[in-house]
Amino acid sequence: MTHTHIIGAGLAGLSAAVTLAAAGQVVTLYEAGPAAGGRCRSYYDKGLGARIDNGNHLILSGNAATFAYLAQVGAADSLIGPNAPLFPFFDVANGARWNVRPSTGVLPLWLFQPSRRVPGTRTAEYLKLLALRFAKPGATVAQALGGGVLYRNLLEPLAIAALNTPPDQGLASLMDAVVRETLAKGGAACLPRVPREGLSESFVDPAVAWLAARGSQLLTGRRIAAIRQQAGRAVALETVEGIVALAEADSVVLAAPAWVAADLLPGLTVPDAHESILNVHFQTQAPRPAGAGFIGIVGGTAEWVFVRQGIVSVTISAANRLVDRSAGDIAALVWPDVRAALRLPGAMPPVRVVKERRATFAATAAQNARRPGARTALHNVVVAGDWTATGLPATIEGAIRSGRTAARLLLTR
Ligand SMILES: Cc1cc2nc3c(=O)[nH]c(=O)nc-3n(C[C@H](O)[C@H](O)[C@H](O)COP(=O)(O)OP(=O)(O)OC[C@H]3O[C@@H](n4cnc5c(N)ncnc54)[C@H](O)[C@@H]3O)c2cc1C
Repeated sequence: MTHTHIIGAGLAGLSAAVTLAAAGQVVTLYEAGPAAGGRCRSYYDKGLGARIDNGNHLILSGNAATFAYLAQVGAADSLIGPNAPLFPFFDVANGARWNVRPSTGVLPLWLFQPSRRVPGTRTAEYLKLLALRFAKPGATVAQALGGGVLYRNLLEPLAIAALNTPPDQGLASLMDAVVRETLAKGGAACLPRVPREGLSESFVDPAVAWLAARGSQLLTGRRIAAIRQQAGRAVALETVEGIVALAEADSVVLAAPAWVAADLLPGLTVPDAHESILNVHFQTQAPRPAGAGFIGIVGGTAEWVFVRQGIVSVTISAANRLVDRSAGDIAALVWPDVRAALRLPGAMPPVRVVKERRATFAATAAQNARRPGARTALHNVVVAGDWTATGLPATIEGAIRSGRTAARLLLTR
């Protein structure tokens, strides 16, 4: 039977594994960390005495590959969110609050209802989004969309969240890819979804259990140090524990982060500039913002605030500008925004700041041009990861799609 060795058990590796196992292949996943999940995982934080996610992750109902993956591993109902698209916002600068509520149909009828739009914007302004589609190659989000109330109070926060890159650098065509698969398809493709329990409980643990039930193996704490090559193919994987020899029919999916992939496969061009994401977890009870369970903040440092049982988690994307500041400084900077947005009383509660320094590749034109396809120079090695040429920015949807693409390539060989 064909055996595929998958390096890295993040969502790209897991998605490749699920696709291959569904086709009857035996799969072994080698994961350097203590658990699967990579940049999308939950863990117990000793300081807070609570289980937290490494960072808030928001999924939209238009993320088709993500929902197909969840359905396949039996976790489709592990995400929660409102029945109608709802994006609440708060402006730190003037205390204003508003909800953006796209209508569910394909026709954007909501644009004709002021109560569903960003206050102070006109219907025609939303046509601005088409500028993403017709932007010059290499144009940035700010060049395509920049300026005005709609930009400040909706498009800019959405672009920062989707690209994790400052809009004056973020590539308009990558933002367009996100808009095409969500907003352009109507509100039914924009339902915000978050895990009911945690990232691992939705995206990781069900897949690992599903794979185990089909005879596939996850080896954690197993870092691949090198891929031995001979005559245009991989012949062995080197680990600290020893050498894994590959049989003639064996294949490899290299689903590690870009910089690891470049080390393991010299000559592979990969994105080499990254942006950070900060997540600040405050241990406090707070009222869940109606419907969505999160609130977008403009005019402050915090960007998205998610309310869970006993934890309020704040996301700051495109955070290279802040990442070197101390955890205490960052928490102190963010807490006033959170207090105001959620109308919380009192002093700052216990807090954990999680810094993901290389959260995603920088979604710039130059970095996007460095993303490789799944094929490599080695006949039996393919690559996967949110940093490969998925056509999307670095997202769960991109990671899952890349794993599926890599697996299908092997299955058709
Ligand atoms: C804080 C944060 C917030 C985010 N928010 C969102 C969001 O709201 N919506 C969204 O769609 N996306 C979001 N993302 C992006 C999303 O998490 C990633 O796109 C996705 O998880 C990437 O998966 P991956 O499998 O490509 O990479 P990774 O998750 O990095 O997986 C690679 C795996 O390879 C392992 N590995 C590394 N070296 C080796 C080795 N030598 N041998 C074996 N294993 C190795 C790593 O330990 C890791 O488990 C966010 C990311 C972060 C960090």
